[in-house]
Amino acid sequence: MEQLLSVVVSVYNEEQALPLFYQTARPILESLSWDYELIFVNDGSADGSLGILKKLAAENPKVKVASFSRNFGHEAAMIAGLDYAKGDAIVCMDADLQHPPECLPEIIEKIEGGSGVISMVRTKNASAGLVKNITSAAFYKLINTLSDVKFEPNASDFFAVSRPAADVLRSNYREKVRFLRGYVQNIGFHKTTIEYEAHDRVAGESKYSIRKLFAFSVNTILCFSNLPLKLGIYAGIFAALMGVAVMVYTLCTRQGAPSGYATIVILNCFMFAILFVLVGIIGEYIAILFSELKDRPIYIVEEKENLN
Ligand code: UDP
Ligand code: MG
Repeated sequence: MEQLLSVVVSVYNEEQALPLFYQTARPILESLSWDYELIFVNDGSADGSLGILKKLAAENPKVKVASFSRNFGHEAAMIAGLDYAKGDAIVCMDADLQHPPECLPEIIEKIEGGSGVISMVRTKNASAGLVKNITSAAFYKLINTLSDVKFEPNASDFFAVSRPAADVLRSNYREKVRFLRGYVQNIGFHKTTIEYEAHDRVAGESKYSIRKLFAFSVNTILCFSNLPLKLGIYAGIFAALMGVAVMVYTLCTRQGAPSGYATIVILNCFMFAILFVLVGIIGEYIAILFSELKDRPIYIVEEKENLN
């Protein structure tokens, strides 16, 4: 029986890029040795994206559309795509052609060769500015230091998984606060990488603001590391040692009652600062626990085309 490749594309306000994406991807998909399904997940676009997708779905039954009731974020869109995908291999990619569909034949080759997880590693990121490149490098350095899980620095949201690997992601990684890329790299299976050159976005603008990226980074660190929670113990040891030092100093200098005011103020401020930061960190973890506990849906699908 012919194998099926599922291509999952997340779409958020991509009316300009979509026609170009389809024009480029379709001939490549048709020429593959595998059958294909092209699953677009519309992440609550406010522009004409859904109209375009519906038209594509009407003329090509292999084009499938799941449309969210609002914007749930790129990761939620990829998870929904994985949930709907029926393929023997599933590829997640962006709609802006930054992830070249030309890589698909190579992905199929690797899957046929027994790979379970294929991370697409970008060799060059043309459109990301210097700031984005530096902050991204710093982020990966930090998370790799803090967490036992190791992250590929240049891995993108462009990846492929075999059906068994996808089953694991579908059934066991349903966290509300999550970092899909991290899971993909850490479920094991036979892992390979393919290098690709990231192009400039064909049309439209990047949907990731610096603020979104920052929130995303904080969540990732909290999801993959418990080290911040243990900071309290280190801070406690540090404070105790400082206390001993101040005690010895006070005893040795035999300060009279009125002096030492500055020491008290400085120590007070310093200790409270540490305390508040630690309480804040614990708060962040509690927020994650709380959102897991509430167990709200990761996404809500409002409309579907060619999907059941
Ligand atoms: N995207 C999405 N939901 C969002 C933001 C982005 O589905 O809330 C999609 C977007 O349409 C694109 C992909 O995720 O297909 C990557 O987004 P973008 O190109 O803006 O990110 P960048 O490549 O700049 O990191
Ligand atoms: Mg992009």
